[in-house]
Amino acid sequence: MIAVPLAASALLVAGGTIASATAGSASADVAPAASEASVSLSTAPQVLQVPRTGLTDFTEELQRATQREVERIAQAKAEAERLAREAAERAAAEEAARRPGVVFPADGAFTSGFGPRWGTNHNGIDIASSIGTPIRAVTNGTVIESGPASGFGLWVRLKQDDGTIGVYGHIDTSLVSVGQQVRAGDQIATMGNRGQSTGPHLHYEVWTANGTKIDPVGWFGSRGVSVPGAHGG
Ligand SMILES: [Zn+2]
Repeated sequence: MIAVPLAASALLVAGGTIASATAGSASADVAPAASEASVSLSTAPQVLQVPRTGLTDFTEELQRATQREVERIAQAKAEAERLAREAAERAAAEEAARRPGVVFPADGAFTSGFGPRWGTNHNGIDIASSIGTPIRAVTNGTVIESGPASGFGLWVRLKQDDGTIGVYGHIDTSLVSVGQQVRAGDQIATMGNRGQSTGPHLHYEVWTANGTKIDPVGWFGSRGVSVPGAHGG
């Protein structure tokens, strides 16, 4: 009666021993042990000895399996982190692509264009609004000047993304300092009425790399931005 469950467990143990033994040691060593176990089923102590060996194998097997699982989890974690990093980089690139390359510097009324005015040449465009109106960087660029300037009262000059220089005159306050990197649309100053000015406005100029002052309206047009209120584009 008792021999049946014993035989079953002994066979299971023997089977387990053979299965794990084939991976490493010679199966010739195992076969006699297995048959010995089968033969001496009636002797309980010997049957109990077999599970002890099997238990060691099982423990080692379990340790190996655990190690494999730990490695698998670490790999999955690294993979998840890589995917998250790539997604963040993709989102940043998309955000950069959405940013306009050229931004109009201020909201307000276009009050004066580039060209002859009052017996001299007006070298920029005027956009009038109230003191404190935000003034934005027209392109990505670098601040090359921020401070007092003759005629302009206070100005900011930016090296723009195409090598031209953007000049922001009559500002009330500057929010940037020399050497600072700015992006198109960043607020860099507030509108003011400093220097030779007849009312609160921004005077914006575009200089080529060699210092020639060009019509900002034409320059904006070449960058795909039409200037609201400007005559003759
Ligand atoms: Zn002006």
